[in-house]
Amino acid sequence: MSPDFTLPQLDERVLSTLNCDGSRRWLSPREVRGSFWTSRFVVAWSLIVVFTVLPWFRIAGKPPLLLDVMLRQFTFFGTTFRPTETLLLALLILSIFVAVFLLTAIYGRVWCGWACPQTVYLEFVYRPIERFFLGAGFGKPKQAVAPWRRVTMYAVFLLLSAHLANTFLAYFVGTDRLIGWTLRSPADHPVAFGIFAATVAMMMFDFVFFREQLCTIVCPYGRFQSVLLDRDSLVIGYNKERGEPRSRVAARRELESAGAPVGDCVECMKCVQVCPTGIDIREGLQLECVNCAQCVDACDEVMEKIGKPKGLIRYSTQNLFEGVKQKGPRFRVAIYPAILAVLLAAFVTLLIRREPALIEQTRLAGSNFKATLSGEIATPIRLLIENHTHLSERYSVSGIGDVSVLGDIPNVTVEASEAGSIDITVLCPAHSFGRGSRLGDIFVHDEHGFGKVVHLTIAGPFSIKQSAGHAKEVSGESRNHEAKERRHK
Ligand code: SF4
Ligand code: SF4
Repeated sequence: MSPDFTLPQLDERVLSTLNCDGSRRWLSPREVRGSFWTSRFVVAWSLIVVFTVLPWFRIAGKPPLLLDVMLRQFTFFGTTFRPTETLLLALLILSIFVAVFLLTAIYGRVWCGWACPQTVYLEFVYRPIERFFLGAGFGKPKQAVAPWRRVTMYAVFLLLSAHLANTFLAYFVGTDRLIGWTLRSPADHPVAFGIFAATVAMMMFDFVFFREQLCTIVCPYGRFQSVLLDRDSLVIGYNKERGEPRSRVAARRELESAGAPVGDCVECMKCVQVCPTGIDIREGLQLECVNCAQCVDACDEVMEKIGKPKGLIRYSTQNLFEGVKQKGPRFRVAIYPAILAVLLAAFVTLLIRREPALIEQTRLAGSNFKATLSGEIATPIRLLIENHTHLSERYSVSGIGDVSVLGDIPNVTVEASEAGSIDITVLCPAHSFGRGSRLGDIFVHDEHGFGKVVHLTIAGPFSIKQSAGHAKEVSGESRNHEAKERRHK
């Protein structure tokens, strides 16, 4: 007899986006207009314009924001940072995190409801297009829509997602490279085209299918709300004192005339119908609430109609909803600005003291030193030069002390905010080497007064054998042989 694997039946919904049997509960929030919707519309479209045009602007020849992962350089408002500047980058990223913590502690999930690209594009671009093609959505059976409408809608979504993917990629590869990719055949750059196609697919998946689940299941910021918010943070909530006990409009008069207590909530469910994450805010503060204020607009509209004051659902704090007054200053609202001030001060100080160029010796694979006929050791060296200025600079290299540089003064031109390298050969007296290498200095300078002494580790022999004025060529390969010989003796 096969065992009985009957699944337990859940009476209540676990997630607002799941049915009791685990299937997806497809949300089609009802459209609502109100003062918050108007403000959000203005903010959303301003952000869409900024997001779209920002990669095309230039500050000192650089985009305001470019996170170039391929070249491993990050540009913020015209200043480029490379992985070599880890401290500056770390300070900048930490400052952004602390600023987000502070914003959340004071204004709650204002980012989610008003500025997050997910909310902005879904609620103010994709959803209105869907309503245009399929109707208002709520309660409308899908089969009632003519197939051409659905096909056209998906075609528009695809074009939109392609545009969005291009805009998104512009922040990571830059507009110049993006134009190059766009103008050439995909066969010329299959990897780049693959990245573009995958990004479009991700946009389609998210905005057409996954939608609110990104906020309720995936987004880590949403998960952190329980620790980032406190009882005095701004949230959207339902005034239970005023709203309960609920009763439908039809039953109100009867209850009122019988002297029974009646709250202001008329059980119209509009606050639930407009919610993009499908929750009922009357059940209290929930992780799924993205503070979009659509329920506020919906309820205010109802309150206006029944002649009650607005604000049954409104922006407030958990303490104020419960009639508790704030006791003294809030610790996190005091500590976050203090930390932010320290981080920003350190960042600005380092930025001001940042040298016009970073110059350092880098590994040169397979290079060997050689002994010259004049009795010196010639060692190839590679220098990495990062130009931190907004000008193209020419850097020249010369020796210091007993270290000289072979040939005419070597130089290299490095473009503004770019990195370059130069290969030089330094000459040192053979007798100055002891244990296979020595230290030495060279001087690197540009044409605008910047100069820097660069400390080198110069490879050379363990010992030099000379006879009758003849220099024996000593190479890196023979160095091992000499070491073995010495050990043998
Ligand atoms: S919209 Fe307002 S009145 Fe209607 S159910 Fe929600 S809270 Fe109650
Ligand atoms: S409960 Fe209200 S504020 Fe929260 S997500 Fe739903 S509609 Fe937006």
